[in-house]
Amino acid sequence: MTEDRFDAIVVGAGPSGNAAAYTMAKSGLKVLQLERGEYPGSKNVQGAILYADAVEKVIPDFREDAPLERHVIEQRLWMMNEASHTGIHYRSDDFNEERPNRYTIIRAQFDKWFSRKVREAGAVVLCETTVTELVRGGRGEVIGVRTDRDGGCVLADVVVLADGVNGLVGQRAGLRTELEPDTVALAVKEMHFLPREVIDARFNLKGDEGAVIEAMGTVTDGMVGTAFLYTNRESISVGIGCLVSDFAQSQTTPYQLLERFKRHPSIGPLLAGSEVKEYAAHLIPEGGYKAVPEICGDGWVVVGDSGHFVNAIHREGSNLAMTTGRIAGETVARLKRSGAACTRANLAEYRASLDASFVMKDLRKYKDVPRFLDRTRQVFGLYPHLINQASQTWFRVDGVDKRTKEREILASFRKSRSLGGLIGDAIKLARAWR
Ligand SMILES: Cc1cc2nc3c(=O)[nH]c(=O)nc-3n(C[C@H](O)[C@H](O)[C@H](O)COP(=O)(O)OP(=O)(O)OC[C@H]3O[C@@H](n4cnc5c(N)ncnc54)[C@H](O)[C@@H]3O)c2cc1C
Repeated sequence: MTEDRFDAIVVGAGPSGNAAAYTMAKSGLKVLQLERGEYPGSKNVQGAILYADAVEKVIPDFREDAPLERHVIEQRLWMMNEASHTGIHYRSDDFNEERPNRYTIIRAQFDKWFSRKVREAGAVVLCETTVTELVRGGRGEVIGVRTDRDGGCVLADVVVLADGVNGLVGQRAGLRTELEPDTVALAVKEMHFLPREVIDARFNLKGDEGAVIEAMGTVTDGMVGTAFLYTNRESISVGIGCLVSDFAQSQTTPYQLLERFKRHPSIGPLLAGSEVKEYAAHLIPEGGYKAVPEICGDGWVVVGDSGHFVNAIHREGSNLAMTTGRIAGETVARLKRSGAACTRANLAEYRASLDASFVMKDLRKYKDVPRFLDRTRQVFGLYPHLINQASQTWFRVDGVDKRTKEREILASFRKSRSLGGLIGDAIKLARAWR
């Protein structure tokens, strides 16, 4: 494939691989990036919200030419049952700032743009090239990769595994175990096209303002999962995802869940008259802190989804991907500058930097939440139902006095779940959240 030897090989051209390749190439390292897709982004799926802070730390002036859709000024969090939703809604003109904080994007376009920056920084990017395995040296250290191309063995001082949630390259090399179905969600997503002014009117937006809806409740049929709806310029991304282990035990398919979500009386009118042009399905690593595998060894580091770096509670993935990619890139560049080898001991700096960053701090904070959600299924069925029933009782004006309504609401909770059960769930949630 190439006779050259590289300072670093990056497997994958998603946000984590691009951040790592860009950072290392900018530092003057000789970098090869290999992507199995026809072009960067062709295989990738995201909602997609882009968090500016993470991109800015890699490419400070990204706003000048990155393909951004809308900047987010409004966040809605909905608790749904069959006919209703009860929500928290935050909208602020402060988000109409010079350097907006979050944007909606189309991943295929964004990944292509990011990849162009990687090439401009000096990295060699080869698409339609699948890494099939890692190549090891005499001491078991990783010294390169084998690909599906003729003569496809390339050597480097370090291999950055940015190959996404399946992490097959690391798995085949015995660096990590197989994905557990209860640590990974299967998400499906559609793009609904509508004229820009229709989207603006339906969401009360102007200019490039955007809105986000994150939803949970009976829409996931008792399974651990959430749904979303994001506004782009001339399209709306809508999707839903649940744990693979839950789908395996359920009669419901992801597609059926999405259809039901789209038909919900709170969602249907927002999508009415739209033309669906894209449908995609993808896995999301949701095991959190406890699912993070070994992330470095002699001659290798893991970044992004491949290392389970996703904060499912806050729906953050691409920012953790870019941050882990950048920090891995910076660590390798520092080692090369000082003449140190990319050994496990030296690459431990990467782990230490991650521990000090929001990535590990956030994952650690929520380390018990996946277990709480798995064991407290009421969160996805009973509680959303009771909360919506309570809203209905409270807001309906029907001649019943308010004290009686309060008693009715409390009685409905007590009837469905004992006081001990309610208090126990609240304590468990508080402990898991802490
Ligand atoms: C439906 C959905 C909605 C989401 N919404 C959001 C959101 O709104 N905001 C957010 O921040 N995150 C979101 N995420 C999560 C986000 O998409 C991921 O966290 C992010 O893409 C991870 O980036 P990555 O570079 O680690 O992996 P990926 O983006 O998966 O990239 C991995 C790359 O490696 C390539 N590859 C794999 N194996 C090989 C191989 N053997 N050889 C060569 N190349 C290989 C793949 O083709 C791919 O291009 C969402 C995810 C899904 C599925």
